[in-house]
Amino acid sequence: MTAHVKPKALDNFAARDFRMLIDGVWTEGSGPALERVAPGHGVVVSRYPAGTKADAERAIAAARKAFDDGPWPRMTGAERSNILLRAADLIAAKADELAFLDCIESGKPISQAKGELAGAADIWRYAAALARDLHGESYNTLGEGTLGVVLREAIGVVSIITPWNFPFLIVSQKLPFALAAGCTTVVKPSELTSGSTLLLGEILIEAGVPAGVVNILTGTGPEVGAPMTTHPDVDMVSFTGSTGVGRLTMANAAQTLKKVSLELGGKNPQIVFPDANLEEFIDAAVFGAYFNAGECCNAGSRLILHKSIAAEVTARVAALARKVRVGDPLDPTTQVGAIITPQHLDKIGSYVDGAATAGASVALGGTALDLGLGQFMAPTILSGVTPDMAVAREEVFGPVLSVLTFETTDEAIRIANAIDYGLSAGVWSRDFDTCLTIGRKVRAGTVWMNTFMDGASELPFGGYRQSGLGRELGRHAVEDYTETKTLNMHMGARTGWWMPR
Ligand code: NDP
Repeated sequence: MTAHVKPKALDNFAARDFRMLIDGVWTEGSGPALERVAPGHGVVVSRYPAGTKADAERAIAAARKAFDDGPWPRMTGAERSNILLRAADLIAAKADELAFLDCIESGKPISQAKGELAGAADIWRYAAALARDLHGESYNTLGEGTLGVVLREAIGVVSIITPWNFPFLIVSQKLPFALAAGCTTVVKPSELTSGSTLLLGEILIEAGVPAGVVNILTGTGPEVGAPMTTHPDVDMVSFTGSTGVGRLTMANAAQTLKKVSLELGGKNPQIVFPDANLEEFIDAAVFGAYFNAGECCNAGSRLILHKSIAAEVTARVAALARKVRVGDPLDPTTQVGAIITPQHLDKIGSYVDGAATAGASVALGGTALDLGLGQFMAPTILSGVTPDMAVAREEVFGPVLSVLTFETTDEAIRIANAIDYGLSAGVWSRDFDTCLTIGRKVRAGTVWMNTFMDGASELPFGGYRQSGLGRELGRHAVEDYTETKTLNMHMGARTGWWMPR
């Protein structure tokens, strides 16, 4: 490795010291600070308090009090909506600062980080609209003497735990919906990328969110995250991250039977038929595999190509992948940035080595890139991958594309479904029947047809099987943060204790 050179863009940059937000007060930690070294630049950019279990308990107590006694759950939907809209405006106004933090802490390209901020502001606006539309049902069909009303009530205190790959976007897929419902929250971003979430805390205070409604903790998962999943005063846990920690979260939450929402990993196939528009597909394949350096639960990490086009398509994907600009995340022309940590880079490398040992061929890349900045990985293509290989079944979470082949539609579906995940999938064909058959038979929460990784605030997002539990976004997202209460109202004389229906 060559020595890290501080890039020019960081010349006047001093590492930023952050504090946690507990009960409306910016709080120092009791332990030593956690330092974040920028993965794309190799220099310390942020320092956070290492929160403790005691900090988590204080934050949960603040959220509990804000829910039980505070104004937030008692406001009208319109009042909450107006505050969320103000937050969205402030997010848009501070998008450059937020994107810069996400870029240097996660290593993602600055242009991409700015795109994610625009998407996040839109989600806050969408959630604000839903805040005014949250409603239940009424039943006027139960007989003269009965009126049934089904209420939607805020579920209470929600723990929100997020990962490092889309720091601001993922918290925005959870928090505004919980707030729209009237919940109070304790939020824990990844210890690697906490900066933009802490800045969000400042934005929410400025927008008018009362103290205690949003508490933001920094620190490690086992220390501050775990109590957020076990504490009896927490009513729900909304988690995005690895399937392993998701499983642990569910087990922890089971101790007090909390509601759990989980967005976990994926091993998403793109199935390509010979009649597909290959020009369009090649671009989508490269985007799907290397966007966010492949550190993306939705990454299109498995190409399932019809045998008759496999060689040609692999060569064309490789030719375009060679042109992908990997480099300094702060360079506006960079398309793929750094890998989150040196340990993660090693993990990606061991998947490539394991695949080669198992009989796959490295058609492109396969190694780390030494750019003299931080840690980077070359866009990689593995051909000759078979469904039994680890690289075909497990989430690599790096810029590694596995190529598999099929001969019949049934075989393509079988290969697509032969994994434990079911987050998303893509199908490419000009034939409507083919697309619809794949769309109906592949077990995944989202199936893209002749496109890949498009999203919208209106469209639900989540996974089948070990990709998770529940859905985010979409018009029901706010309901996920509610309990259902039945009001069974009686008028007139009751008919004894035996009441047949
Ligand atoms: P983790 O699942 O380890 O972390 C996600 C969040 O959970 C982080 O905030 C983490 O805290 C927290 N956490 C960790 N342990 C606990 C615990 N015992 N109780 C409560 N919270 C906890 O994901 P990583 O960030 O380490 O990534 C590892 C792998 O997960 C990746 O390689 C990838 O395969 C997958 N992943 C999937 C994502 C997705 O969107 N589906 C996103 C990110 C990762 P902290 O890290 O601060 O300790």
